[in-house]
Amino acid sequence: MRAPEPYTYVADITHWIAGAAARGSGTRSQTVWNPATGDAARQVLLASADDVNAAVAAAVTAQPAWGETPPIRRARVMNNFLALMNRHKDTLAAMITAEHGKVYTDAQGEVSRGIDIVEFACGVPQLLKGDYTDQVSTGIDNWTLRQPLGVVAGITPFNFPCMVPCWMFPVALACGNAFILKPSERDPSPALFMAQLMKEAGLPDGVFSVINGDKVAVDALLHHPDVKGLSFVGSTPIAQYIYETGAHHGKRVQALGGAKNHMVVMPDADLEQAVDALIGSAYGSAGERCMAISVAVLVGDVGDKIVPLLAERAQALKVKDGMELDAEMGPIVTRQARDRIEGYIAIGVDEGARLVVDGRGLKVPGCEAGFFTGGTLFDHVTPAMRIYREEIFGPVLVCVRVPNFADALQLVNGHEFGNGVALFTSDGGVAREFSRRVQVGMVGINVPIPVPMAWHGFGGWKKSLFGDMHAYGEEGVRFYTKQKSVMQRWPDSIAKGAEFVMPTAK
Ligand code: NAD
Repeated sequence: MRAPEPYTYVADITHWIAGAAARGSGTRSQTVWNPATGDAARQVLLASADDVNAAVAAAVTAQPAWGETPPIRRARVMNNFLALMNRHKDTLAAMITAEHGKVYTDAQGEVSRGIDIVEFACGVPQLLKGDYTDQVSTGIDNWTLRQPLGVVAGITPFNFPCMVPCWMFPVALACGNAFILKPSERDPSPALFMAQLMKEAGLPDGVFSVINGDKVAVDALLHHPDVKGLSFVGSTPIAQYIYETGAHHGKRVQALGGAKNHMVVMPDADLEQAVDALIGSAYGSAGERCMAISVAVLVGDVGDKIVPLLAERAQALKVKDGMELDAEMGPIVTRQARDRIEGYIAIGVDEGARLVVDGRGLKVPGCEAGFFTGGTLFDHVTPAMRIYREEIFGPVLVCVRVPNFADALQLVNGHEFGNGVALFTSDGGVAREFSRRVQVGMVGINVPIPVPMAWHGFGGWKKSLFGDMHAYGEEGVRFYTKQKSVMQRWPDSIAKGAEFVMPTAK
């Protein structure tokens, strides 16, 4: 592969309101870092409540006409956007690597998984088809249709600055809503770029806006009476806050939270495959994935066999600037996040876990000021330890040893998070039992990161999701639409006289 073009934009990152870049009140801003070099790369403007109000006002003005636009014409705009996303895939990937730090090829994969949802949204006429029953009673028909909520908003995390927004806005827009995106302030460039592409695709001004900012912008969205629905993806404490506050203000809310994903390795598993899976899913994207595996549950004698293999591989990881094509792991998103991860490693040592590989203090030649940490591996971790219970969100894999399958299942089900889980085995019966009994929303059998495809929907259980509906897929269409039931009859079938009893089928 050719060396990618780095993203070197230096001007301020603005908002996108009413179809144009906007500085808004422009009084506050925050540095966006290049995590590989540790340099301040550019500034992102932080919105005030007035800036949010301006975006909502533009959305309120634009949404009715967009909602009235036939679904097939909305789908055509989405088709144009699909073509533009494919054309600019590498630009988006370079932006992601520049601000998030993940390796370029992984960033390309992220963009592709976002594009999958755009492709799904192109099929919206089929997805919005209602149900119809002819003759529910003599001369009476009944049907259901789905209509947009109106103005909806999305608040997204730093770890997938392209894909997670794509879980939301393509489906919401295709359903006829106006959408306001509040991306992470740590890597905001892809959101703004996608807003420009949506305009180029033919989306009317005001239907899609981007508000950059922090809690001030989020709170303004949460309290605004014209915002009818909110999708959130991020950490659990904020997800719970968004869910409770949004619900209090009468909004429909889906709030996806944090994770601590386990991978159970049975003694009959192909150990070579299990090692590959653990290394890729624990250290890929430096562990900053909500579906990263952070706990290896080693059943029976698996621990003695697999830990030395994992140690060898974790030590050999190629950790460098993500724009280098042979990099396997890039830096952590910010210095604070790196320090927090390394703080957890110290906690694990204090708690008495066995530190097999210590990634702390890694210096990458040529990138000495970058926010790097190496892959870390702990063994003999127990369920009472904080490094087992809490989400570290970094390249730290903890191994818990259990005697049998029943204990492994009990361990997974006892954790407060329930986002993703994997089981490696060659026994179909065990796999079936596991997938039926495990209390987790997304299950992989010999698949370490089972992120569902665009038409299946994404969502965890327990503290990993607040709300009823998963993101994207048909659940996404349901989330962004209200069902209406219509019952009709015509004068020639109306019997004379008032009816005072509950009507039944006649
Ligand atoms: P975060 O919760 O810090 O931030 C997410 C969003 O919330 C950002 O847009 C941020 O600006 C906003 N925010 C932060 N603090 C806020 C506050 N006090 N009030 C209002 N808004 C606030 O999450 P992050 O660090 O950007 O992302 C990592 C987290 O996201 C991890 O916990 C990860 O597991 C989770 N995540 C979950 C999923 C999932 O599908 N379940 C997917 C990706 C990431």
